[in-house]
Amino acid sequence: MVMLSEKLAAWSSEELEALNERFRERPPEELLAWAADTFAGRAVLTCSFGGAAGMVLLDIVARQRLPIAVVFLDTDLLFPETYALAREAARHYDIAIEWRRPALTPDEQERQYGPQLYARDPDRCCGIRKVAPLAAALRPYQAWVSGIRRDQTAQRAATEPVQWSAKHGLLKLSPLAYWTERQVWAYIHANGVPYNPLLDRGYPSLGCVPCTRAASADNPRGGRWAGTGKTECGIHL
Ligand code: SF4
Repeated sequence: MVMLSEKLAAWSSEELEALNERFRERPPEELLAWAADTFAGRAVLTCSFGGAAGMVLLDIVARQRLPIAVVFLDTDLLFPETYALAREAARHYDIAIEWRRPALTPDEQERQYGPQLYARDPDRCCGIRKVAPLAAALRPYQAWVSGIRRDQTAQRAATEPVQWSAKHGLLKLSPLAYWTERQVWAYIHANGVPYNPLLDRGYPSLGCVPCTRAASADNPRGGRWAGTGKTECGIHL
């Protein structure tokens, strides 16, 4: 694990736009290769082992042996299939995956905040179990790679391949920003990429067990925090 990192000064909108013009219509491999060169060991990919897009990026990083660390945010409340995939991927690609957990176990959280916080205050629960661990995990790095795409939610519709994250003080890279669901699956099948089997069983978007239900392919994230109006855990806001 990288222990220290000089934080970057914010990149200007001109610098970001130049990079987006360069990478927007190029294959994700090119942006990942640039990140590996530019940040030399100080770039990190976060992979949920739930969605298919993250597996595409993991496949590229691992097969090309790019010096990009891989972090798995384990909320302690994920599906058994998700944990199994994280272990299988580490073996399949022969890579190290850093597991990051919340400061509180589910039992400690229940003692401190009462039962079923996810039902009463899901933003606070996500804050404890996802947002804070992500912030800690990103601290040593200068670039953060994730699999978010413009077509996933209204909040992600303006995603660009290269953006500045003021919250984390680093470059946020979304190499699949302009990809479609169809492109993701075409890559997965063409390259034999392992993926979460629940995606074939009526769960087109996966998070924690208490907050994930089966959903239709037309509204893939409709099974996340169903009935609450919440669509994001907060790590991409
Ligand atoms: S998805 Fe649900 S259980 Fe998981 S951290 Fe968020 S509110 Fe808690």
